[in-house]
Amino acid sequence: MTQAATSPTPPPSTPASATTPLASGRVFNFSAGPSALPEEVLRQIQQDVWNINATGMGILEHSHRGSLIDAVFAQAEADVRAAGSIPATHRILFMTGGASAANYLLPMNFMTPGATADYIVTGHWANQTWLQAQKLAGKPGFGSAHLAADTAATAHSTIPAAAELRFSSSPAYVHYCSNNTLEGTQWHRIPETPPGVPLCVDVCSDIFSRPTDFSRLALAYAGAQKNLGAAGTTIVIIRDDFAQRGNRDIADLLQFRTYIPDLSRPNTPPVFAIYVVGLMARWILRHGGVAAMERHNAAKAKLVYDVLDRSTFYKAHARPADRSLMNITFRLPTEALTDRFVEQAAAEGLANLRGHRNVGGIRASLYNAMPIEGATALAQFMREFERRHG
Ligand code: PMP
Repeated sequence: MTQAATSPTPPPSTPASATTPLASGRVFNFSAGPSALPEEVLRQIQQDVWNINATGMGILEHSHRGSLIDAVFAQAEADVRAAGSIPATHRILFMTGGASAANYLLPMNFMTPGATADYIVTGHWANQTWLQAQKLAGKPGFGSAHLAADTAATAHSTIPAAAELRFSSSPAYVHYCSNNTLEGTQWHRIPETPPGVPLCVDVCSDIFSRPTDFSRLALAYAGAQKNLGAAGTTIVIIRDDFAQRGNRDIADLLQFRTYIPDLSRPNTPPVFAIYVVGLMARWILRHGGVAAMERHNAAKAKLVYDVLDRSTFYKAHARPADRSLMNITFRLPTEALTDRFVEQAAAEGLANLRGHRNVGGIRASLYNAMPIEGATALAQFMREFERRHG
């Protein structure tokens, strides 16, 4: 394991060994997740899979109850806490089932009889969350669900203004999705909610991409496979008193509180994925923390949005004020040109640019680990493609 360095180095750029994406044998990977990992982290993993901390065993082989994993998990939790400035009031849990499982665990735990849970739908994933709540709403043992806002009328190209949020009279909680991975929109503020109402957020595709005031959130959750590493664990940041309020009548493994003692180990956890979250949190700390990530992400996104803004060929999906710094979505004039764009980009080492199957077009995901050179190469490719085909 690498220890967090004391002085941060500048935000990451292309590794010295790579002069062009293809020369290193690796490409710029614009996948929405699982997605690119930093070379430093991959090299560390290579080493630790073989023999971690001179134990004579790799990370995949250690018992989840052994002292090595005790240390790995404690360090991962400490580094996630430091990287996210998570307050002492909140617990950090490593769960399974991805962000999708958290979508239904939320109403299962907190949409109690007599209570109403409010949902803000701003895209595909926020809608999935809403659908999961509706499955339970009105059933014995559960309360009801209320739609506080829905941006379907703009094809989810927008984020609602405060005046568009219509909450129920006394919500048990409000749920929103901070970054809409398919559509490429992002909340640039925490939504205005009635005072004292627990706010729950799906941060799957922008966790630790910028500073977040977690003290204002009762629960935040993310699959690790975008900004925090490998698929297999869900990072849950939950206010302790909120966790304790949850439903006790459901299976223990479906209750958030079950994961609080013993470093998220009520059963065999996804050890490898949690270990990688630790490496990613340390990598963020080494490179200046989430504030540096935000500057780095804004600079990368600007390179691509500038091309879109100067073009009549490409059509950006998101309203400019609501654009995501993580997932940039746009269309070309025809499907044939879209196919050609994706193919030619891949041939030049710019991989995974096809939009989600539900949305179409192009999507470029520029998570923390994408170096600025990747965004520069994409912007250049886009300009050149427009010159040839526009
Ligand atoms: N929410 C958001 C915002 C997502 O981007 C995703 C995955 N792309 C999910 C939820 C579902 O995550 P998982 O696959 O970890 O269940």
